[in-house]
Amino acid sequence: MKKKDRDSRMELREDGGVPYFIFKNLEETGMVRHGFSTRRGGVSQGHLASMNLSFTRGDEEERVRENFRRMGRAIGFEPEQLVLSDQTHTNHVRLVTEADRGKGYTSPLDYHDVDGMITDVPGLMLATFYADCVPLFFVDPVHRAIGLSHSGWKGTVQRIGAVTLQKMKEAFGTKPEDVRAAIGPSICQDCYEVSEDVAQAFTAEFKAAADERMLYRKPNGKYQLDLWRANEQVLLEAGVLPEHLEVTNVCTCCNPDMLFSHRASQGKRGNLGAFLMLTEKSEGDLDECFSFRSIRPEEAEQAARVEQICFPPNEACTEAMMKKRAAKAPELFLVAVDRKTGRMAGFLNGLSTDEEAFRDAFFTDAELYDPQGKQVMLLGLDVLPEYRGLGLARELMRRYMDREREKGRKKLLLTCLESKVNMYEGMGFQDLGISASAWGGETWHEMAADLEMTGQKPEGNL
Ligand SMILES: [Zn+2]
Repeated sequence: MKKKDRDSRMELREDGGVPYFIFKNLEETGMVRHGFSTRRGGVSQGHLASMNLSFTRGDEEERVRENFRRMGRAIGFEPEQLVLSDQTHTNHVRLVTEADRGKGYTSPLDYHDVDGMITDVPGLMLATFYADCVPLFFVDPVHRAIGLSHSGWKGTVQRIGAVTLQKMKEAFGTKPEDVRAAIGPSICQDCYEVSEDVAQAFTAEFKAAADERMLYRKPNGKYQLDLWRANEQVLLEAGVLPEHLEVTNVCTCCNPDMLFSHRASQGKRGNLGAFLMLTEKSEGDLDECFSFRSIRPEEAEQAARVEQICFPPNEACTEAMMKKRAAKAPELFLVAVDRKTGRMAGFLNGLSTDEEAFRDAFFTDAELYDPQGKQVMLLGLDVLPEYRGLGLARELMRRYMDREREKGRKKLLLTCLESKVNMYEGMGFQDLGISASAWGGETWHEMAADLEMTGQKPEGNL
């Protein structure tokens, strides 16, 4: 990936084969889930390959829906939580409420010309779409409110970033100096040639600020425009503090194999998505929100459904197998149940044995269960997407370790994909290298936690 020569705390993450960018300053508020997609990790074909998030650029609907589901698994949301924009290069910003849940995804849009959205409702995933234009993210940690706006050259010259902040002030009392803001991946100045009329619009709007660095004229009479700088200018003038503003260093047009770019593809392209959602306020207190216990017989089917959502088909445990396991060894399940809804938010399960090394037969044969076994082969750690980011997976593991240690077990073993090794190390596991497992046709790391050595709360940050 080509990066421009400037500091940025934007990071590329990957989950389940789906890469996406995040901004550290937004993540550090601890109250949002967010991301910006790439063109990788999806199922679309040809010039839409593969993570196209547009229903209106000639893609098959089911492919686009699968792409949204994958983004949801990676970032942590259910597609039903989405609220989509209707972008037409205006500076119109919509106050999104609970009534808008699912609009543009599970139900048709009943609003139009919406390039920006704001909300203070937790659990609504705002989504806007891009292929060179500039995504603007806003988080007000004081009033617990967010905004997400699409700023192309027209939106920039109409200062949609400032309009978004003004709307947040009117709706939530937001003060710009509290806001954490980010300018996401979009076209860089070197790639963005504009004509005389666009240049004039910027010179008129930004006056002295529209100097050589924002806009310069070339011998051919055309101009190169810096939309990053222009949007930065808009946000700073509106009162956002420089130390609260993050700017991308990745250009869509410089990276056409990684990102969709309208310019680089002459319009033959899909859409990238920006996603921003406020999480529940009370989510921090896990004990208050969840009860932790063994599984009940009637919950085996629910556990199987959670497993289908959390793992791709080749890795997920079947319903029949889950029922067998839950019937055989219910005390080796630890489920987290949402106290408000009674719904299973996640679970951890395994089988005890005296065997010392992991083998795939444990996934399919509950008869291998030995109640007195000194080891537990862990078979799945599941947390539903809408409950991620709360530390629930870590809490399940911590409680599981405590419970099994008390029963006199010596060791927990598991296999995981390379991308999860760091996470499990943070929970007290050691990487034993590549496992003999060929489950789902993937390459697995075998990891073990010595229960006699992991008496303390594991370090790290999940
Ligand atoms: Zn570029």
